[in-house]
Amino acid sequence: MNNLVIAVDGPAGAGKSTIAKIIAEKLNINYIDTGAMYRAITYKCLQNNININNEDEVIKIAKNTEIDFRDNNIYLDKRVLKEEIRTMEVSNNVSNVAKIKEVRYLMVDVQREIGTRNSVILDGRDIGSYVFPNADYKFFLVATPEERGNRRYKELINKGYEVNIDEIINDIVKRDEIDSNREFAPLVKAEDAIEIDTTGKDINEVVESVISKINI
Ligand code: C5P
Repeated sequence: MNNLVIAVDGPAGAGKSTIAKIIAEKLNINYIDTGAMYRAITYKCLQNNININNEDEVIKIAKNTEIDFRDNNIYLDKRVLKEEIRTMEVSNNVSNVAKIKEVRYLMVDVQREIGTRNSVILDGRDIGSYVFPNADYKFFLVATPEERGNRRYKELINKGYEVNIDEIINDIVKRDEIDSNREFAPLVKAEDAIEIDTTGKDINEVVESVISKINI
């Protein structure tokens, strides 16, 4: 059997990673959080006091970085990363790192390599439109900015962060704007993607509507 590739794209906080993780478990395939890759590069730049607006410096860091996924965990230079890539500081900077074409080329190579070796579900912004245009299934999850902001807020509060709802909605809206307007591989719904509006739906409902479209 050929490898199965499922693309889950959409704006920030639409529920992509929660849904993709559950589907991966149900189908017993790998889950790749492609946003975590851009976050990892951003985190490394911040750790090294690199000015995110200095593209050459960011590219140099990205070229000298090893990113890998094992057991659904992301590894940066062989070190597992967890919550340190989910901070507001990383969120506020990641879209400016992700808009750099050379950084994207490097990340996309890793994503394609993993996707050709294994059956995978990947969540991101450009998976169905650019990384895997021939993916077996493509989903595009959307929800209102208020709902997306509220979900992120609850998630971060539950993890013990002190965050402010307005700050979170601002971050989401700002990231969507940069992600949608960048020149190379922007956030866009692939023509053949199935759009699912998750506003007002609980996780199970969304999982069910995704699963019902998949025939394996
Ligand atoms: O998915 P998450 O919100 O963690 O992604 C963080 C950021 O990484 C996005 O706002 C976007 O700038 C970038 N990203 C991207 N392409 C992807 C996945 C994420 O540009 N495939």
